[in-house]
Amino acid sequence: MNNRIVVVGSINADLNVLVDRHPAPGETLLGSGGHITAGGKGANQAVAAALQGADVAFVGAVGKDPYAAPALEFLRSSGVDLTAVSEVDDTTGLAVITVAKDGENNIVVIPGANSLVNCDYVSSQSALLAEAGILLLQGEIPADGFKEAIHHTMRRVVVNLAPVIEVETSALLEADPIIANEHEAGLILDQFGAGIDSMDPHELAQALLDAGFASVVLTLGSAGALVADATGITDIATPTVQAVDTTGAGDAFAGAFCARLIKGDSLIDAATHAARVGAYSVQTAGAQASYPDTSVSLPSV
Ligand code: ATP
Repeated sequence: MNNRIVVVGSINADLNVLVDRHPAPGETLLGSGGHITAGGKGANQAVAAALQGADVAFVGAVGKDPYAAPALEFLRSSGVDLTAVSEVDDTTGLAVITVAKDGENNIVVIPGANSLVNCDYVSSQSALLAEAGILLLQGEIPADGFKEAIHHTMRRVVVNLAPVIEVETSALLEADPIIANEHEAGLILDQFGAGIDSMDPHELAQALLDAGFASVVLTLGSAGALVADATGITDIATPTVQAVDTTGAGDAFAGAFCARLIKGDSLIDAATHAARVGAYSVQTAGAQASYPDTSVSLPSV
């Protein structure tokens, strides 16, 4: 079954709160909103890949609480295999996102059940991991679970190290490619003791190749992306669109990228398609709710 993507990652409920301004310490303010949407970088990427036609299985955990159902809504409706998602005695991962009128946001994340996606739990899913054609990882699970997932994978490992957590560099170098934005690329290079002053995307990509990565994909927001490997560095254009909400665009990109990679696309072709999916997703509010399926006509460059 090596045409399957296995995502080992986070599942969150996002609690969205709107305020005129953020409260001062000790102050109570009235807000509005209060709706819950599905989030977590692992879940976002799994949904994006499944909507792009991939066979996706998820290794993760939710709590036995009312947040689990909304957190799993799109994973279920997009057809992701949730057999290896456990219900545990903890809260579902929860992100409390407070957005003020000026657009500035404050986010408090409670990892909850996601912190149980550790070495022991991941190792209990070794059969599923051994079958994966692509293992897709992010940085929202414990580092020992991350490393264990790589240990059980026979084929391709794709890593979007967001947020950037401390992982053994030998495990991280299994990523082919490592997907990062410019900020994350800088932090990853710091972990290798190879930090550079430049934020030039080509120099960042080259520095990551020099650090030992076989391939690198940098996402650059409205400037598109780039793909780098031993054959060279290629700029990937993204369509020009009216951006309404860029939340989860990177996750849309990573999921769609893997959906194409597992079908046999080259890194460049997969990234070209993923950029169009990322651009599509910024045109409407939310993360998973903004992701296109294969019936949608994507914006062109
Ligand atoms: P996030 O952390 O918000 O998910 P990110 O920094 O990981 O985002 P981005 O580089 O912002 O990821 O976006 C991923 C891809 O989505 C980009 O490479 C690009 O193709 C597309 N994209 C994002 N923003 C825009 C935009 N404003 N216009 C067109 N395409 C965009």
